[in-house]
Amino acid sequence: MSKHFDALKTHLDRAMALKTALALFEWDNETLAPKEAGELTGNVIGILSGEYFQAVNNDQVKELVKACKEDGTLTLEETAQVRELSNELEKLECIPKEEYQEFARLVSDSARIWAAAKEADDFGKFAPILKKVIEFQKKFAGYQAKEEQKKYDVLLHEYEPGFTIELLDEFFGLIKKEVVPLLKAVKASKVLIRDDFLTGDFSDAQQEKIGRFLAEYVGFDFSKGVMATSAHPFTTNLHNKDVRITTHYNDNLDSSLFSVIHEAGHAVYELGICDDLTQTLAGQGASMGMHESQSRFFENIIGRSKSFWVPIYEKLQEAFPESLFDIGLDMFVRAVNKAEPGLIRTEADELTYSLHVLIRYELEKELIEGELAVEDLPKMWADKYEEYLGIRPESDKEGVLQDIHWSQGSFGYFPSYALGSAFGAQLYYHMKKEMDFDGLLEDGKVGAIREYLKEHIHQYGKLKDSRTILKDTTGEDFNPEYYIKYLKEKYQDLYHLQ
Ligand code: ZN
Repeated sequence: MSKHFDALKTHLDRAMALKTALALFEWDNETLAPKEAGELTGNVIGILSGEYFQAVNNDQVKELVKACKEDGTLTLEETAQVRELSNELEKLECIPKEEYQEFARLVSDSARIWAAAKEADDFGKFAPILKKVIEFQKKFAGYQAKEEQKKYDVLLHEYEPGFTIELLDEFFGLIKKEVVPLLKAVKASKVLIRDDFLTGDFSDAQQEKIGRFLAEYVGFDFSKGVMATSAHPFTTNLHNKDVRITTHYNDNLDSSLFSVIHEAGHAVYELGICDDLTQTLAGQGASMGMHESQSRFFENIIGRSKSFWVPIYEKLQEAFPESLFDIGLDMFVRAVNKAEPGLIRTEADELTYSLHVLIRYELEKELIEGELAVEDLPKMWADKYEEYLGIRPESDKEGVLQDIHWSQGSFGYFPSYALGSAFGAQLYYHMKKEMDFDGLLEDGKVGAIREYLKEHIHQYGKLKDSRTILKDTTGEDFNPEYYIKYLKEKYQDLYHLQ
């Protein structure tokens, strides 16, 4: 090992340990921590965060990063860690410390004010602080921008390196051109899909039992992970021997079933990262979009296919006999694929989902690069829903206030959700050429599909970015046409459109 990297590693290990502790607190906060714990635990989190900041952001580390960059003997894995750290430092360095701290305070207020405004269904209460958050984001992006780089491009880069406004305009342009008319055709079709049996009074215990079964079935290893409940399902990754998922139980059976498969998809990614990378800065998923591609691949492409349920549908029927005993497999699969425009992104089906993201992309791009005023957001939001989905929110709560992202200063994050679906479709069509995809699922061999994904994607962590992964795996750069093809084939068939 290079002596420079060896010296740097002491600092990296310390930072990693602090980061792991912080992640564990975050997990605990959302799952098991008692209600009263917040404030005092907050003190601990504050101290640990400060320590983390110090551990990576000091002169010794900066010297060592410089030395490592000039050192020609680093391995691929080491080079990736130095690159990640160097990016992090560059970002911190260009922002004055006082402004950074002011922003941290602002977003914690902002998230709270957003929650209250949403509760009160009043965008006016949130607008003033949102304006400040946007000001900061523009200022910070300006500090980081290289030469002629646009501010929104700087923000996009943070979540999805390799993707720019230019590329995303093309991608979302295609979605607008193809998915909006496809949805219109679906709505106009006379085909009615029954899904009433997915709503009911399902016991939490039964949902948990089947949830654990499904998670394990797609490859979540309970000796290296746990499953808990939380208000919104999420995945916490500590290292490749400890990945945690959550789910929620309500009166929609499909909601818990598919959120378990979704989070298990995120977890399978993290569990598959190779031992040389785990517990390092390069030991997470390649990007937001690539992560989402894997969770959605498991949830939608695998989990909502008929082949997936062939070997296990009986088990589901046995778990919920009152609702499912006279519902055949075909009827069940049609129900979990039903498309219906709704106002809430997180509840959207596969067809309408990308339209929710398209709307957010267009709006946040205008907020950062264009002239869109915060006051005009609710109306613009509603107009776009009417134009693309044919429905109009009657309240801020169901409209512009529904997502937490902007209150946290996360601009540039939303596109990753739609990119994830598109990456997944591109991988899917390639894999169908390489293996008998449906045959494997019908035989209950999800493992063969998972191993392929591990070999081509998961094991690499952040060694490759998403476009490189797509190129190396499918032989082609990002190509959104596969996503359109996937949606067309699926929904034209489901709604007898041809
Ligand atoms: Zn996800």
